[in-house]
Amino acid sequence: MSKTDEYIDQAERVLLHTYNRFPVVFDHGKGVCLYDIEGREYLDFCAGIAVFALGYGNEEYNNALKNQIDKLIHTSNLFYSVPATEAAKRLTQAAGMDRVFFTNSGAEAIEGAIKSARKYAFSKDGSTDHEIIAMNGSFHGRTMGALSVTGNSKYREPFYPMIGNIKYADYNDYESVEALVNDKTCAVIMETIQGEGGIRPADPSFIKKVRELCDRKDILLILDEIQCGMGRSGSMFAYQGYGVMPDIVTVAKAVGCGVPVGAFMMKQKVADSSLKPGDHGTTYGGNPLVTAAVCEVLRQFEDRKIIDNVKDVGEYMYKKLEEVRAGYDFITDHRGMGLIQGLEFDTSRAEPSKICARAVKNGLIIITAGSSVIRFIPPLTITKDDVDRMIGILKASL
Ligand SMILES: *Cc1c(COP(=O)(O)O)cnc(C)c1O
Repeated sequence: MSKTDEYIDQAERVLLHTYNRFPVVFDHGKGVCLYDIEGREYLDFCAGIAVFALGYGNEEYNNALKNQIDKLIHTSNLFYSVPATEAAKRLTQAAGMDRVFFTNSGAEAIEGAIKSARKYAFSKDGSTDHEIIAMNGSFHGRTMGALSVTGNSKYREPFYPMIGNIKYADYNDYESVEALVNDKTCAVIMETIQGEGGIRPADPSFIKKVRELCDRKDILLILDEIQCGMGRSGSMFAYQGYGVMPDIVTVAKAVGCGVPVGAFMMKQKVADSSLKPGDHGTTYGGNPLVTAAVCEVLRQFEDRKIIDNVKDVGEYMYKKLEEVRAGYDFITDHRGMGLIQGLEFDTSRAEPSKICARAVKNGLIIITAGSSVIRFIPPLTITKDDVDRMIGILKASL
């Protein structure tokens, strides 16, 4: 038995089997590559599912964390801390928001956004039957609230009942949203670019019209930027590229580049009439260790001009993936922008999960988004040479 098989065998005896994992045991990373325990190299176009945006073995990031570990890891939210204050200032400024609450994950950021919207509506009229409009094909996380606004019944059904008063509209179909609005509607929630659902960007006219509808009816627009935010789309937040501002925004994944941290942010108007002392809390959320990571991530985004690289290399990757699409007639679509792109397959002729498995064997980490799409969400620090290498291995795996 190889060392890898031994570890996999041990893991499968004790880990709850909620993932069908690739048969790889990673040991360390450097730049945009990961290395397994047997020394094999993998070019990483998954980045820990859009988390590790700044590359592996990032010395300044590692040192920022080590320094904070030696100083103070945790104190609770009953006190103030310098890293949390600094991270809050930097993150709200980057997002154009006024207030932030730090969480431990994306799903928890969604929970907070839902609670904020319900409390905002409750403060207005005192009623407790407000509705939220979510999108078909969306993904917002696995906790009960986040699952309730996830527009994929396969994920929801075994866990019914969900939280109440959620309705589903069709993404990029404005009329379907408008048709669901009534006096009880308190929020519309959607991803600016649907990730898990197959890398589907919002149509500019759709998101603008939804914004106008929300303004007319004092409905809160919640944009989930957990996957598409933090520079991945070519703007710091994808909504900035659309010229549309949400009332509440959720972030996670790349915001801490590997430490468990997320956040929901809001405009002052929402903060004024939503969560107050006693309404919400978290023991770990935004502790000094994870917020030191957020500070360092945001510093590097600025100093290393990460977004310029996303635009430049993202455009190059778009061109290269267009060439791939043109060369295989079982590839039916290519979507996305910046460094969040996807190829859609005719699944009767090619199975994305099998292609990904073959690519991993060939030294390229790519993953699916839904059952018919392969997504490309590399570290934001990749070069055009990395794209060329990726394209080579991808073709060999098709
Ligand atoms: C990953 C993801 C989530 C859930 O985040 P977790 O940290 O896994 O809870 C929510 N929304 C979107 C768009 C995501 O991609």
